[in-house]
Amino acid sequence: MTCPHLEYREGDGSREFETARAFCTVAERFVQPVRADICTERYDLDPEADCEYFREHEGLDWDE
Ligand code: SF4
Repeated sequence: MTCPHLEYREGDGSREFETARAFCTVAERFVQPVRADICTERYDLDPEADCEYFREHEGLDWDE
């Protein structure tokens, strides 16, 4: 599974990439490799538990 807010984009409006890059539609930025482990739910990471962008988008507090 991957986060529903993750997209792969082949350019940023001014450049085309050789390989599509991960983009977060909530943060409206490209995702760094460390973050992508959360986005793609590797290593038992989970957007709902581990991503502040996801939690803010869903209106979740950290003590929930
Ligand atoms: S940064 Fe967070 S909200 Fe954005 S795609 Fe990754 S897990 Fe989802």
